[in-house]
Amino acid sequence: MFSEFHPLVGTLISNISTGRIIRNDIYDLQPLKQWPRDNICLIGDACHCVTPDMGQGGAQAIEDAYYLSNLIAKEQHTLNAFPKFQKKRYKKVNAIVKQYRKIAHWKYGKSFGKYLFITKSDLTGFKNLSGLDC
Ligand SMILES: Cc1cc2nc3c(=O)[nH]c(=O)nc-3n(C[C@H](O)[C@H](O)[C@H](O)COP(=O)(O)OP(=O)(O)OC[C@H]3O[C@@H](n4cnc5c(N)ncnc54)[C@H](O)[C@@H]3O)c2cc1C
Repeated sequence: MFSEFHPLVGTLISNISTGRIIRNDIYDLQPLKQWPRDNICLIGDACHCVTPDMGQGGAQAIEDAYYLSNLIAKEQHTLNAFPKFQKKRYKKVNAIVKQYRKIAHWKYGKSFGKYLFITKSDLTGFKNLSGLDC
């Protein structure tokens, strides 16, 4: 499976006992339209996953934490920071998510979505989050 990768990858894998290798499926969800609800505000992958091949998901999650923590520090009431946070970040992160999905489709074809995009039946616990549109 990794024969086309740099030889170092094979060396690393062969030196790890198989019990220590974690194999997880990759899931994606449509960006949520609303990040805060009541006294909870989602950040990072919880509200705007980026496909894992472009190196942006972690970067955007860190930017979220930066902006949200600064807004909370400025507000007398934490809840006031939530809508301002979404207003500040929404346009940028959604542009990134949409752009990288397009790139993923160009690179891997539309079938990419078949194994990447989570199905409705997997979302039982998330049904009440507005904006979920899978
Ligand atoms: C294969 C792969 C490669 C990637 N490469 C890159 C890259 O090169 N650069 C980049 O910027 N991004 C990359 N990403 C994306 C990046 O890892 C994520 O976007 C980033 O980790 C999101 O951060 P987060 O804090 O939002 O969520 P997470 O990192 O997923 O953190 C959520 C945390 O919450 C914990 N948690 C979950 N449920 C509960 C619960 N009920 N109670 C308590 N804790 C809970 C989880 O254990 C986890 O520690 C990659 C992702 C993948 C899958």
